[in-house]
Amino acid sequence: MAYKYIDNYREQGARKQLVDLLRKKGIEDEDVLKAIGKVPRHFFFDETFWSQAYRDIAFPIGEGQTISQPYTVAYQTQLLHIHQGDKVLEIGTGSGYQTCILMELGAKVYTIERQEKLFERTIQVLPRMGYKPEFILGDGSKGVPEHAHYNKIIVTAGAPTVPDELLKQLKVGGILIIPVGDAEKQKMVTILKTGENDYEKIVLDTFRFVPLIGDKAW
Ligand code: SAM
Repeated sequence: MAYKYIDNYREQGARKQLVDLLRKKGIEDEDVLKAIGKVPRHFFFDETFWSQAYRDIAFPIGEGQTISQPYTVAYQTQLLHIHQGDKVLEIGTGSGYQTCILMELGAKVYTIERQEKLFERTIQVLPRMGYKPEFILGDGSKGVPEHAHYNKIIVTAGAPTVPDELLKQLKVGGILIIPVGDAEKQKMVTILKTGENDYEKIVLDTFRFVPLIGDKAW
């Protein structure tokens, strides 16, 4: 996938329109909208497909994976209530777009991807854009215990259940956002860790994600 440092008026205008659309679709967190308005999503596309970059759609990034739909990225990010300095584990780096949005909000991000080719691409592209998260290659369905505990955990692939490991790696007061369901559709689940062994779970809207593949998943 080519990477060019060109963010001209056409792309900036398209990004503004995308932000307006997300606001109309119900995204209310102005900080999240600001981050979407800032990160050049077309940098994650081959130049041939730049015209698609600011449509509210998921798009193939190779290896059978997708860059998530902007609405989905905004929806999940809004649920995380990111504060400056939050330590965030992202499971499923994919293109790295969501990673950049989290970093724009001031998070310290640990991001794990199981597919080597996608991992290799993001470790090149993100630092060139000025984003330097901690990149990890491996199975994130078990979390990343060596860097635990996290204020927030976001899973960007659909899981059959909520892996216990992720709950254990969350700080008390922390939030886990994970799509849970079958291969066809998943419900967005948000879990607040209220005590060492206490959790509050809220089941929200239906989405369709690529599967979370791993030891504690599919
Ligand atoms: N938010 C990302 C973006 O905007 O580019 C989209 C991620 S894509 C929908 C989901 C990613 O999760 C894929 O890159 C996939 O390879 C990855 N994935 C699936 N199972 C995983 C696992 N067990 N550990 C780490 N990554 C995993």
